[in-house]
Amino acid sequence: MPPRAHDFDLAGLRLNTGEGRRLQLDVPVEPIQLGSETYEAQPNPVHADLSVSRMNGGGYALRLAFAAAASGPCMRCLRPASPQLDIEAREVDVPHSGDELESPYVHDETLDLAAWVRDAFALAIPSKILCRADCLGLCPICAADLNEAGPEHSHESAPDPRWDKLRELRLE
Ligand SMILES: [Zn+2]
Ligand SMILES: [Zn+2]
Repeated sequence: MPPRAHDFDLAGLRLNTGEGRRLQLDVPVEPIQLGSETYEAQPNPVHADLSVSRMNGGGYALRLAFAAAASGPCMRCLRPASPQLDIEAREVDVPHSGDELESPYVHDETLDLAAWVRDAFALAIPSKILCRADCLGLCPICAADLNEAGPEHSHESAPDPRWDKLRELRLE
């Protein structure tokens, strides 16, 4: 089983300039909050593929890849949804090079793998998480699940309040 990692010690790889290494690591992912709903990575921990190469002049080029489903309620009908995501992210870290080439996930040759995986997962989540692409959602009048109720589901148009008045008059 691959080791579980929150942080990863890049210096510990002892790479020479131009050398690279590819590793498999299990990384636990915190759930992502979207509005009032929570979405979890599945599997959790994710099986991440991390490539590290030591660049000429120092620093590291990093590539992260993993597959995970974002599991949580469908944003239309609230039934369970878990769209599958293929995630890939790259970072470059050259110490003391100025902001552009310094990765926010690398500090003193330690890679904050948990934060990187979480951010990459959050960025990959689609703006609409659906149980299926053509989910019909809930009826706006009675909240019935329209995927089950079928296309014939409909309501009589709401009664006109003036009829109530007429009815009252007739009863008197
Ligand atoms: Zn749905
Ligand atoms: Zn309805």
